[in-house]
Amino acid sequence: MRATEHPTDAILSIRDARKCFGDRVALAGFDLTLRAGEVFALLGPNGAGKTTTINLILGFLRADAGEVRICGIDAGAAPVAARAHVAYIPEQVALYPDLTGLENLRYVATLAGLHLAPDEGRRLLDEAGLAREAHGRAASTYSKGMRQKVGIAVALARRARLLLLDEPTSGLDPKASAEFSGTVRNAAARGTAVLMATHDLYRVRETADRMGVLQAGRIVEEVDPRTLDHVALERLYIERLSAGASS
Ligand code: ATP
Repeated sequence: MRATEHPTDAILSIRDARKCFGDRVALAGFDLTLRAGEVFALLGPNGAGKTTTINLILGFLRADAGEVRICGIDAGAAPVAARAHVAYIPEQVALYPDLTGLENLRYVATLAGLHLAPDEGRRLLDEAGLAREAHGRAASTYSKGMRQKVGIAVALARRARLLLLDEPTSGLDPKASAEFSGTVRNAAARGTAVLMATHDLYRVRETADRMGVLQAGRIVEEVDPRTLDHVALERLYIERLSAGASS
C-alpha cells in the first residue's frame, strides 16, 4: 500500500494533511488511521494543531494538501456526507437549560431526523452513563460530565462511527473523569472509533489504546499508553517534545 492510500477498513484515514494560515504552518504532513473500536488520544502543546485536525475532520476547514476520509468519504469534498458519520463532543456540551437530559436527547434526535422508541432515550442515557435520577432533571443543574454524557447519548442515537472529543476531561473531578473513561471504553466496545484531543496523560493511560504526540503539525511519536506507567508516559511525552523542539 502506498503512503497516500486509504485502508478500506478505516473509519478515519488522514493522509499527509497539510494546512497553513498565511505563513503559519498548522499541519505539516499529518497521518492517522483509526479503525472500529480503537481509542486514539492526541496530545500536544498549545498550537500543535489539534483543533485544526478536528476542524478538517468536521469539514469546517479544507486541507491545502493531503486527504481526510471518514468511512471512505472525502471530508474536504463532501463534508456533509462525511460528517454524518461523526459525533463531536466539544469541551462544553451545549444543552437547552430548561429541558431535561431526556428532553434534550429527544429534541436533538428529532432535529437529526431520528425517531426514538418510547424507552430508547432512557436506554441511551443509561448506556452513556447518566444516572437515572438525572434523566428527568433540568439540564441547567448538570455538571460538565453529565452534559458530556448527554452528548454521548446523542452520538449513540445517531450511530456515529467516529466520536471526536475535545479536551473531554479538563475540569472533571476524579470520579467523573473515571466514569468518562468507562463511557468511552463502552462506546469503543460497540465498534465506535474514538479520537480525543487532550492534555490529560493520566486519563489517556486509562482510556486509549494508542497515543500520538503531535508537534508542529505532525505526529512525532506513537505509543500504546497501557504499556507504560504514568511516570514513564509523562517522561516520554516531555522528551519527545524537547527532541522535536531542538531538531
Ligand atoms: P490549543 O491546545 O491551544 O488549542 P491546538 O493544538 O489546537 O492548540 P491549533 O489551534 O490547531 O492548535 O493551531 C495550530 C497553529 O495554527 C497555531 O500556530 C495557531 O496559531 C495557528 N492557527 C490556527 N487557526 C488559525 C487561524 N484561523 N488563523 C491563523 N492561525 C491559525
